[in-house]
Amino acid sequence: MPKRTTHTYSSEDAVPDGPDSDLFVYYCKHCSSHVLITDSQLQKMPKRKTDQAYVLDKKNHLARLNISEAGKLLLKRGEGKLEKQFRMNCVGCELFVCYRAEEDLESCSFVYIVDGALSTIAAETNRQDAPVPPCISKLDGGLVQVAIEVEDRAQRSAIIRVNADDVRVTIAAPVARGEANNELLEFMGRVLGLKLTQMTLQRGWNNKSKLLVVEDMTARQVYEKLLEAAQP
Ligand SMILES: [Zn+2]
Repeated sequence: MPKRTTHTYSSEDAVPDGPDSDLFVYYCKHCSSHVLITDSQLQKMPKRKTDQAYVLDKKNHLARLNISEAGKLLLKRGEGKLEKQFRMNCVGCELFVCYRAEEDLESCSFVYIVDGALSTIAAETNRQDAPVPPCISKLDGGLVQVAIEVEDRAQRSAIIRVNADDVRVTIAAPVARGEANNELLEFMGRVLGLKLTQMTLQRGWNNKSKLLVVEDMTARQVYEKLLEAAQP
């Protein structure tokens, strides 16, 4: 696990003068933690063509950013082009909410806000009202797909966390071996209350990433079962 630090950025210059200035406060859509204060609405900011992220001119519009650093990622954008993202997560639920192109947060010019990650309204914080995260998605035919990241060679099978990108599950068997899939399926069957015949396991993006497809449950039911079972 990378070390996570909470970073609060505050710039005196960015705070508009006078008590009449409007400030817009944005919350994580997933858990309602406070993430961002700006003096201009996100809806009025330009959007990137690639991922529809809002482009926040940090020096002129950012008053406050409350995030945890989530590390660097290299993304392929077109042929031979790599894009560097320094990602930042919600401090409450680790949902990926924004990123920047330069490593240094203090001096970077822009912060890109992930489309749909933030809301101006703090929703009820109880889990029934929290939206189902994108890693649990509806497929055609009443199926639900869960993106799982496996941590193998663990002491026990457990759900470690549920966040926006994936559900982290530990299992004992090494992932390189076939029995790892069986162990994962049996464990997920116990967690979700499903038989092996109601689930299919598919390969994900790499050998630690798995896509579990389940029958006879809604995405919300799957989410709630996973949250109940989660024990960090
Ligand atoms: Zn959150």
